Amino acid sequence: MNFPGKLPALLLACCFARGPAQAFELSFPAPLRNNSHTYYAYLPGTQPDGLSFFAGFVRSLTDWMDASGNISLSAIDEEREVCSANGNGSTQNGVNTVSFSESFCGDDSYFSDSPIADAVTQTSWNPFAILESDIIFNENRKRQFESLDHYFHHVAVHEIGHTLGFGHSAVRSSIMVARLFQGRRDPVLSIDDRCALAMRYGAPEDCPILLGEGLATNGLPTDAEFVGGATDDNGWTFRGQFKPSDRITIYGTVVRDRAHGHLPGNLHVVASTEDGVLFARHTDGNFHPLEDVAKIPSAGELKNDLYAQDLVIMGTRHFGREPSVGPLIGSVYQLTGQTVSFYLAYSLKERPGVYYYGSEPITVSWPVE
Ligand SMILES: [Zn+2]
Repeated sequence: MNFPGKLPALLLACCFARGPAQAFELSFPAPLRNNSHTYYAYLPGTQPDGLSFFAGFVRSLTDWMDASGNISLSAIDEEREVCSANGNGSTQNGVNTVSFSESFCGDDSYFSDSPIADAVTQTSWNPFAILESDIIFNENRKRQFESLDHYFHHVAVHEIGHTLGFGHSAVRSSIMVARLFQGRRDPVLSIDDRCALAMRYGAPEDCPILLGEGLATNGLPTDAEFVGGATDDNGWTFRGQFKPSDRITIYGTVVRDRAHGHLPGNLHVVASTEDGVLFARHTDGNFHPLEDVAKIPSAGELKNDLYAQDLVIMGTRHFGREPSVGPLIGSVYQLTGQTVSFYLAYSLKERPGVYYYGSEPITVSWPVE
């Protein structure tokens, strides 16, 4: 359900999300209106590097603009009303704001209950554009924002990502990861973050791990896109050749056809050996022989509130999800000299037997040394 302009989405900051993380995901059906956004930012105080919080916020906007080239983000150093007159917990008043506060427009839960959010972003949209975004940094964390290197910068870049329409990511190198696994760092956009930008604000081909062309098994054209790859360094790099001892994780993201938003369905992964033996990933994370290519088991449900949704296809355990096929697949399954191709797909409940898939697989091989 989507009521134009009426439904604010509450996107929570790093360290707050309790649900499973998503690899790059798109929360909304649309980009920023005119691909641009101007914030009224009232951020008194200074970061440990001597930069004011306002200047630090502007630098964080620039991080995204430098990576995209197609978005225009700016901030005005001015205090404006953050909250809506309609009631607690709403910022929807037609003005984009950035501020510090001890409560989220009267709702104390995010900034006092455990786990405590570093910041909360609320965004409203209609099917055609993101209309308004408000970022509230947790005032109770201000002492840490003033004293810990990279902290404010990291959280600001993450929250701005939400205002662009990006959800959380499972890819550990992503700035959009829900939890700061590797501590606060100088925020550098990962391949995963750049693919999210490419899908919403650029061209799909700008994503270096695009899985070919989106196709449908019924032969009808589709604008669905598929992204994925194998990594042994948390997604900083993706490649196709590994040693059996390499600990690999395979990530995939399905970007639905624009006409498929909100429709229920399933994700699918089919693995093919060089000999053409097929396996399907099941919801428990295991791969089992695929009996019938017209009836591929579900690898997970499509979430109807996401326009792009990821899957940790196999590899390292992740917060909220535990793939059964672990990172040492090469040595556990003695795959030296083998190549395995992983095809990513989805289907809709209303069209059983029709699969939308990427024309290119994620290919992983373990060459003989
Ligand atoms: Zn977040």
